[in-house]
Amino acid sequence: SFLDYAPAPESRSVLALREEYGLFIDGAWVPGRGEPFQTISPADESVIARVASGNEADVADAVAAARRAYERVWSKMSGRDRGKYLFRIARLIQERSRELAVAESLDNGKPIKESRDVDVPLVASWFFSYAGWADKLDYAGLGASPKALGVAGQIIPWNFPLLMLAWKIAPALAAGNTVVLKPAETTPLTALLFADIVRQAELPPGVVNIVTGAGETGAALVEHPDVDKIAFTGSTEVGRRIARTVAGTHKRLTLELGGKAANIVFDDAPIDQAVEGIVNGIFFNQGHVCCAGSRLLVQESIHDEVVERLKARLATLRLGDPLDKNTDIGAINSREQLERIRELSDVGVAEGAERWSAPCELPEAGFWFAPTVFTGVETSHRIAREEVFGPVLSVMSFRTSKEAVAKANNTPYGLSAGIWSEKGSRILAVADALRAGVVWANTFNRFDPTSPFGGYRESGFGREGGRHGLAAYLTPAGASTGRAASAR
Ligand code: NAD
Repeated sequence: SFLDYAPAPESRSVLALREEYGLFIDGAWVPGRGEPFQTISPADESVIARVASGNEADVADAVAAARRAYERVWSKMSGRDRGKYLFRIARLIQERSRELAVAESLDNGKPIKESRDVDVPLVASWFFSYAGWADKLDYAGLGASPKALGVAGQIIPWNFPLLMLAWKIAPALAAGNTVVLKPAETTPLTALLFADIVRQAELPPGVVNIVTGAGETGAALVEHPDVDKIAFTGSTEVGRRIARTVAGTHKRLTLELGGKAANIVFDDAPIDQAVEGIVNGIFFNQGHVCCAGSRLLVQESIHDEVVERLKARLATLRLGDPLDKNTDIGAINSREQLERIRELSDVGVAEGAERWSAPCELPEAGFWFAPTVFTGVETSHRIAREEVFGPVLSVMSFRTSKEAVAKANNTPYGLSAGIWSEKGSRILAVADALRAGVVWANTFNRFDPTSPFGGYRESGFGREGGRHGLAAYLTPAGASTGRAASAR
């Protein structure tokens, strides 16, 4: 199956990259009017390609193309036909999975076994899942004849570049919207390969537009008056700015922001399984995960044992070349992110927590940070409150369930949490008391296209995935979109 192959480091050869990439607007590659930028490999800082930057006029062209495609083609097409395009895209993603996985690891720095076994299969599953919804909107439990919103502007981060694209584009198209997507400036590569897939699938021009560039390009998309919906995943700070811009306009908004998830381990938990879950919770994708289990809460009686086993396990992880199939920990995505992680980690030491780093040799070129565990962390410490977005775990202990819940909820965020226990009743009671959009029990970082994902409070609002994710791109029956075209 497409999951079975194991690329060797030299598998970079599966990629036929261009030296320069333009913007993908109205089904064609066009030069950007902004200053082009380089995308580099964070593992060795080598240049991968030059990429166009879209300015306000380019964004306006993309939005106009999306509007035309919406009014003339996509909103007139039957859901069944839209579904066929989505199925075709899903199949092409599977066919080109090696290439996509290598491109993702090269541009982002994540281990190839993660892009190959997690990211790309999930990307395909998202398109398959939403393809199945396209002709069933009337039965989605959203009221009769739900209608598309129109043109969706989508802005995504660098931690799961292709997966975040799928989370945004698949439901938007299934619901009958057209899109303009802006990838993150450090990871544009897989979105550009996706544009190629869109062409291969013969999607009508303008249904999907990809405009690369930095924050200003994203801001131009948010401000454009003819955009009907903004979907954003990224930092709380930028999310807040976007919410202010959109307030008072007709635009619908969903925000998926940061997190500071608690992974709670009770003394009856299967310890070996919990240790694996803790490692996966925070060191998967170098901790560049909004729902990462960055705060470990361990019941006092097993605290020392868990910490000891955790350190022993971390000492076995292999850090290095993201394209090597044996690598467990890849590169930090950018120099800025590395500096942010170093700074917060140093603050952790200055505030009195005890730092331990896994013994591993860091390559000279590129951006690297060893898996790090802080013990003796107080709830007031910055490493216990702020999102590090890196391979840094803060360990705290608790005595009772009540204390665990109070500590877990002591955060401005509310995206996810984990519970480890053999007792079903305890899991249900604690899950109920946690203020988190997603709660995992005896597992962590599991994603599925049929499950809604999203947060409370500073983690944002709106849900992606499943029926809820579809509803985010639809207006219910009876409510007018202000536009005549039907999405069905
Ligand atoms: P960011 O919010 O700056 O960037 C995310 C996306 O928004 C990028 O595509 C960026 O170009 C775009 N953007 C930036 N400014 C914009 C603006 N004014 N208007 C519209 N779009 C704009 O995030 P970052 O700098 O890449 O990361 C900073 C922090 O954000 C991280 O340390 C982490 O804490 C958090 N983060 C969270 C997630 C998540 O999945 N929730 C993902 C990435 C980063």
